[in-house]
Amino acid sequence: MSFNSLGLSDALLKAVSKQGYTTPSPIQQKAIPLILEGKDVLASAQTGTGKTAGFTLPLLQLLSQGQPLRQRPVRALVLTPTRELAAQVYQNVKQYSTYLDIRSTVIFGGVNQNPQVATLRNGVDVLVATPGRLLDLHNQRLISLANVEILVLDEADRMLDMGFLRDIKKIMAVMPSKRQNLLFSATFSKEIKALANEILNHPVLVEA
Ligand code: AMP
Repeated sequence: MSFNSLGLSDALLKAVSKQGYTTPSPIQQKAIPLILEGKDVLASAQTGTGKTAGFTLPLLQLLSQGQPLRQRPVRALVLTPTRELAAQVYQNVKQYSTYLDIRSTVIFGGVNQNPQVATLRNGVDVLVATPGRLLDLHNQRLISLANVEILVLDEADRMLDMGFLRDIKKIMAVMPSKRQNLLFSATFSKEIKALANEILNHPVLVEA
């Protein structure tokens, strides 16, 4: 199987080939076509399986299919448990969007918010964030999630372990209810299943 058969655009294929990837990983083979179809996906995937490209590539394609909205509101939100993971996912988003007209940024706690706010003001299509800082900026009315079309919960089990459930629920409440949802988790506790039930709409289950 090659990347060419997954339905990705030339711009994304070029970015993938620039990374030196030749073959999509199992999670990428399964998840990419489903996400491109607009399905909600519940994915069981550990770090190292290529899960980040598995959601980032189709997400970028879906966003780049339409015209960018003039104000550049956030249209895709990726939530991650830690700032390290947020920074890592953001690097992936940057790399894969090299040949697309897509803006992205990352926000996380523990650092001054002003540079993050300044970047957000310019408009971003894809926002990678940790829940606490995102909610904080939203409470200050420095960010709107009213145009989110795609939500990704990355390493959802770790987010719950770190006590982010309440923050995640508050974030859900300020997004449009009609959106595509992707939940990635390495483990499936009762709590994760409950969260998946609450968030996902007729999800397709994908395993790495
Ligand atoms: P992840 O599981 O998303 O953290 O990715 C693990 C590592 O695999 C990262 O360093 C990626 O750059 C790399 N990677 C992702 N997809 C592929 C692929 N199809 N072929 C080779 N390497 C990949």
